[in-house]
Amino acid sequence: MHLHNTLSGRKEPFEPQDPKRVTMYVCGPTVYSYAHIGNARPVVVFDVLARVLRRKYPRVDYARNITDIDDKINDAAKKQGVPIDAITTHFAKVYRDDMAALGAATPDFEPRVTENLPAIISMIERLIGSGHAYAAEGHVLFHVPAYADYGQLSKRDRRELIAGARVEVAPYKKDAGDFVLWKPSTPDQPGWDSPWGRGRPGWHIECSAMSEKILGETIDIHGGGHDLIFPHHENERAQSTCAHGGKPFARYWVHNGFLTMNSEKMAKSVGNVLLVHDLIKQHPGEAIRLALLNGHYRQPLDWTDDTVPNARKQLDRLYGALRELDSVTAAPGVKAPATFIDALEDDLNTPMALAALFELAHAANTATDADKPRIKAQLLDAAGVMGLLQQSPEAWFKWAPAGGGGDEAAIQALVDARTAAKKAKNFKEADRIRDDLVKQGVVLEDVPGGTRWKRAS
Ligand code: AMP
Ligand code: ZN
Repeated sequence: MHLHNTLSGRKEPFEPQDPKRVTMYVCGPTVYSYAHIGNARPVVVFDVLARVLRRKYPRVDYARNITDIDDKINDAAKKQGVPIDAITTHFAKVYRDDMAALGAATPDFEPRVTENLPAIISMIERLIGSGHAYAAEGHVLFHVPAYADYGQLSKRDRRELIAGARVEVAPYKKDAGDFVLWKPSTPDQPGWDSPWGRGRPGWHIECSAMSEKILGETIDIHGGGHDLIFPHHENERAQSTCAHGGKPFARYWVHNGFLTMNSEKMAKSVGNVLLVHDLIKQHPGEAIRLALLNGHYRQPLDWTDDTVPNARKQLDRLYGALRELDSVTAAPGVKAPATFIDALEDDLNTPMALAALFELAHAANTATDADKPRIKAQLLDAAGVMGLLQQSPEAWFKWAPAGGGGDEAAIQALVDARTAAKKAKNFKEADRIRDDLVKQGVVLEDVPGGTRWKRAS
């Protein structure tokens, strides 16, 4: 298996430090509002990576944090006049449900910052003890000049980094690039007791402390969107490496490219932010998932009005092939073809893997009866690695948007009435019923042995 490593800038052979236990940490959401479709990209990409790893190695420990201490959360709580955990509990649940609708499995660990303050404080204490951090006026700062490799991950010169980060100039900082590990809280702000007074942790230290606690000092894979390379991951790397006496933090840094909307940046100010919570009411979650996987994860992905409908048509083809194999029993023990797995193991080349999947669907449509059990097994196994074809063709074709589509039993009753009318040679009535169903967005297909229906996409 190969993975592109941001640290080396190259695709490298992937070899876990312990082949019996692969460790992966991905930076998770700050839970104060709904996730947008761009936020869902790393979720789906790393979900596929976890599936590929799980099939190859006996154990994968995948952690994705929930940031439930943050100034944006504080602002939202203040505005609504509620405690922060009313906001974070609600939006952590929404996040989990929305990502589940995209077929993303819950990671093995979902640490929350509020539940890990002792680990965070302990790491800060160690960084002070080793001379990499210092306390000043209720703050604790990481001293960037104390870590010679700072800037290696983001490949920027330190001076350039400071300019890029627009770091706050504060009188208590020894160096303009020093960043906050701990900051004081005013009495009306949420805060926790610490050796430096009542306060709260900075954003970067939480990931360093939680990944150490759950996965150990050196982890195999660290992931997130490429916007996190600087300053977040550069700072995480500095903290963890210095707290661990110079031992490497993450061995492979994996970053996904950005999602744009009609070639534009997705931003509130542009007014083009698409929320997953809304999208899953209008489209099958599986189509949204496939849309996110149609491009290679490192490339930018442009989202337009056609993106999901096109993915839906692709899934119609896959489910159509599967439906034709309804009466076939999948051959036991037969796995996805090598072309498919090789593509995924080559830096998660999902477009190439999908091409192999569509080839299988095509083969299914033209296969001899003797070959069908093998093809069905291959199709199901391969699709499973991508988290696709996870429902019955029947359920797929009958999917209806939230609050729409009519009752399935009522539709079936009309289909049966039409069949009866046809049998009685009352073709006028049969056509009337068909037209009525078309108006409801239901398409009838007369096939050997009866009539089946699906919802028009
Ligand atoms: P945030 O809540 O902004 O920290 O983002 C959560 C995750 O989504 C991070 O891994 C970001 O890198 C990623 N992300 C945010 N916006 C986009 C986007 N437009 N395209 C792809 N990934 C994104
Ligand atoms: Zn992080």
